[in-house]
Amino acid sequence: MPLVDSFGRVHRDLRISITDRCNFRCQYCMPAEGMVWQPRDELLTFEEIERVVRIAVGRFGVDSVRITGGEPTVRAHLPLLIDRLSRLGVDLAMTTNGATLGLLASDLAAAGLGRVNVSLDSLRPERFATITGRDGLDRVIAGIDAAVAAGLAPVKVNMVVMRGVNDDEVVDMATFGRAHGVTIRYIEFMPLDAQGDWERSDVVDAAAIVAAVHEVYPLVEVPRTTAAPAQQWTFADGVGSIGVIPTVTQSFCSTCDRVRLTADGQFRTCLFAHDDHDLRALLRSGADDDSVAAVMATAVGAKWAGHQIGQVHFIRPGRSMSQIGG
Ligand code: SAM
Ligand code: SF4
Repeated sequence: MPLVDSFGRVHRDLRISITDRCNFRCQYCMPAEGMVWQPRDELLTFEEIERVVRIAVGRFGVDSVRITGGEPTVRAHLPLLIDRLSRLGVDLAMTTNGATLGLLASDLAAAGLGRVNVSLDSLRPERFATITGRDGLDRVIAGIDAAVAAGLAPVKVNMVVMRGVNDDEVVDMATFGRAHGVTIRYIEFMPLDAQGDWERSDVVDAAAIVAAVHEVYPLVEVPRTTAAPAQQWTFADGVGSIGVIPTVTQSFCSTCDRVRLTADGQFRTCLFAHDDHDLRALLRSGADDDSVAAVMATAVGAKWAGHQIGQVHFIRPGRSMSQIGG
């Protein structure tokens, strides 16, 4: 029985945050002074994470698992978790800031990781340091190259485009993607920043992003076939592709197939949801798999139609992106 909601959407994609900690302080994601990290004993253990995934795969046919954070690579012994999850027969990917991929990429690939998404918002060292709070552009680029070399393909590079911050680098990023053999995915800035400073005027619309790239590198639109949120274009000259994730301007909620598990074991049916479903308490109280599965099914059954960013009804969720897992 798949995880189906009252709108008929089938959920096969599970995003798992494995830590709320991070070695970066991206200005659109965390306060400059950092956050108060969750105590370690509140984070799910690898055994608990594996159990939830096993239930999701076995009971509901979930076939895609994304590891995220916080920064997933700061969690000790990450290859061990990858090894456990890779045995469950899912498409296994990870979203990372890339800072330690130079060291980890080959171990993660050997452990069974399928592919990575690396976040990179600027190719200018000073601007990179301003956005991330860290002086590490070279390491991230080396990490991207290491991921490509390790075969974690297709390597996707996520750029959050923010007006007046990095929107003048949209074409430079496309050039970088073509040169390094990676797909750039431009993400519209979402109201999930820890400071709550987001304003609609900070968002660069997907259409403007695509137009800017198209002017320099003509693009051909790829027809959408799946629930994947990214709209895709290939370069007309055949040298790779780009994607755009237009969460704000063209919500893809009507085809959403995602559910989420936070590092502290809360099951969420939407990035913007206001309610958590406490799987950790269940797991630690000796509940059987049926009970865990029932909470997941009930939560998805009651999933809302979608977020309402830009409308008067929209209310920001209580957690920031780093706490939910992007
Ligand atoms: N630390 C990892 C990383 O940076 O890739 C994984 C976690 S991070 C929260 C996941 C993704 O969320 C990143 O691609 C990041 O750029 C994106 N993100 C964070 N805050 C965002 C925001 N307010 N709007 C849009 N994307 C955001
Ligand atoms: Fe850390 Fe990723 Fe958030 Fe940046 S976007 S602060 S790397 S969790």
